[in-house]
This record gives sequence, C-alpha cells and structure tokens, in this order.
Amino acid sequence: MIDLLLEKSELSLIVDKVEAGERLSYEDGLRLFQSQDLNTIGMLANLARERKNGNKAYFVTNLHIDYTNICAVDCLFCSFRRDVDHPEGYTLDINQILEKIRKVRDQGLTELHMVGGLNPDLPYDYYLKLLKAIKEENPKLHIKAFTCVEVDFFAQLYGKTAEQVLRDFKEAGLGSLPGGGAEVFDEKIRKKIAGEKATGARWLEIAKTAHRLGIPTNATLLYGHVEKYDVRVRHLLQLREAQDETGGFLCFIPLAYHPENNRMGKMGWTTGIDDLKTLAVSRLLLDNFPHIKAYWIMLTPALSQIALFYGADDIDGSVIEEKIYHDAGAKTQDALTRETLIRLIREAGRDPIERGALYQVVKMWDL
Ligand code: SF4
Repeated sequence: MIDLLLEKSELSLIVDKVEAGERLSYEDGLRLFQSQDLNTIGMLANLARERKNGNKAYFVTNLHIDYTNICAVDCLFCSFRRDVDHPEGYTLDINQILEKIRKVRDQGLTELHMVGGLNPDLPYDYYLKLLKAIKEENPKLHIKAFTCVEVDFFAQLYGKTAEQVLRDFKEAGLGSLPGGGAEVFDEKIRKKIAGEKATGARWLEIAKTAHRLGIPTNATLLYGHVEKYDVRVRHLLQLREAQDETGGFLCFIPLAYHPENNRMGKMGWTTGIDDLKTLAVSRLLLDNFPHIKAYWIMLTPALSQIALFYGADDIDGSVIEEKIYHDAGAKTQDALTRETLIRLIREAGRDPIERGALYQVVKMWDL
C-alpha cells in the first residue's frame, strides 16, 4: 500500500534517488521544498538520518554565554544588539565570564558556546586573555566560540588576516567555531538584511580556513523571512560544496527567524510544517554533513522531539542562559536539565547519547 502511494507521489524520482544513495540536485531540493507531501519528505530524511546515525540522538551539557551585545552593525533581523551608549548595552569582563562557568561546571559541563556582537571597543587582548583564562581554570572544557562574522570583524579591526586570528585563538584555547552568522549567502538578500557584515563568500572562506587549521565549525541558515526556497537550496548546496573541499563541518542547524523586537517583525513566525520540512530537506541535501541539529530553544522541546524523525539527530543541550532568541520572542525556557533532555529523546524512541562538542560519546544513557 505504502509502495503504491509512493509510486504516485510527485516525489517518486527523488524517492528512488534517496533509496539508491544518490546525491540530490538543485532541482530535487527545490521540488522537495515546493512539495506539500511532508510525510514522504520526512520518511526520506529519516532514512538518510538513520543511515548516518542509526537510532542515536545526541545532546550536550553546555553553557551559552553572549559576552557582549554591543554591535557596530545593525542587521534587520537582530533583536539582541545594542549601541555602545544604550542603557541595556553590556560587555562581560573576564571575571564575570569565569564566574558564570564556575556556577555550573560541576553539573558535568563539557562545552562552552560563546558569541557576541561586533564590539569595536574591545582590545585584541581581551579575546586572547579570555580564552587562556577559561582554559586555565577549565582545561577539559571545549570552547566553541566566535562566528565567522566575528572572526572577519576581528581581522579588519585589528589589522590581521582571518588565518592569523584563528591561529592565535586556537593557541589560546579555542576548540571550534559555532555556525552562526551564515544567515543567507544570497548576496542581494544578505545586503538587505545584514548589509554591513561579512559577505556569504567571506563567511565560507573563513569557515574553510578554520577547517584547514584543524578547527571544526558548524553551519546555519536563517530561514523564514524574505528568502524564497531557491535561496535556501543554493545556500545548502554552497555548504555541501565547501564540505566536499574540507570535511570540516560537524553539524548544520537551520535557524528559524523570530519576529519580535526587530525590524522584520511583519514576516511573522515560521510554522511547524516549514520547520520540519527545512530540517528534512537539509538532511537530504547535505549528504556530507555528519549531523543535523533541531535546536530546541528555537523549535520548542516538543517539536525537536518530532524533528528526530525528520532528519535531525541532535537537539543541542542544557544551554542554561540564552539571550539571542529570547530577545527575539522565543517562548521556550532558557535551560533544560539533563534528565529532561534524556526523557525527550527516550520518549521519542531514540537512544540518548550525551556527546562532547566534537560528537565524542560522553555517556550512553540506559542503552
Ligand atoms: S546579528 Fe550579530 S552582527 Fe548582526 S546586529 Fe546582531 S549581533 Fe550584530
């Protein structure tokens, strides 16, 4: 019966390709996004997901720190940034950051995720001293910090190449880069919504440089605003091409646009159907990415659970302190306990694996 339904599906040619393990084309990606047949798309993404990751579903005990919200640029979709003289503008000093880590490190913390605005007033030394101080107190903690956009900004501000910045940061203790700042690579749209920051080509160049220096990175796509499906597909294929070159991307995270407290609010919220479809198509097109993450902060824990059957194999982690998406209207909590993460995964029928930042197994829970 199911075979018969699939034969009639507009997606039957793509079904054949996925079953045969063939790489999907731009046209296939567009067709998947345009299709209303979410069940077939989900089934295909699940097949691809289980081929790569079996029944495993990953989470991490991590802490997010946004070290400054002061930003020299002003992206239309951003609810987090503040001007230097704004009363809500802040920059954490090194001791404040160390204190935040001290408070939670005994909870089994393995990863620090740290990003910030493009603050023109901080000296280069702030970053080097910060990385060194964190490592000195927490030698085993993996520091995943600074997006490719931040690295580009540092290079320009301090008169260095991006490679020099990355080398210095690695030496000071940086372990990997998060995937933020990719937004959409389409230059026309990027110019409109994030005009003053690094171009898509520059973001990709810095990610590839990091990979060559042995610094893995993640990647993202900001979807659900002015971009159309063709822009999403091209973005994904550019990432796939970069991954073919370097193999340095660990994980892809589609980020749903959040409409509150920014200048694109009329675009509204993404829907659950679009969220699941975007995850699923990402899994299908990014055949060389080991992991796809359903970020619960953004999707809600409930939808992240379902996403584990739409291509995702990771739901992120404890997080503990999230500002960027909550400033933009996220209604989720800003922390989940390890027990809740395990329960979410287990009740979805997947095997919960607590991972480190590089997807090494920290603990397999009740397998
Ligand atoms: S998205 Fe990043 S670069 Fe853009 S305004 Fe916000 S903090 Fe600044």
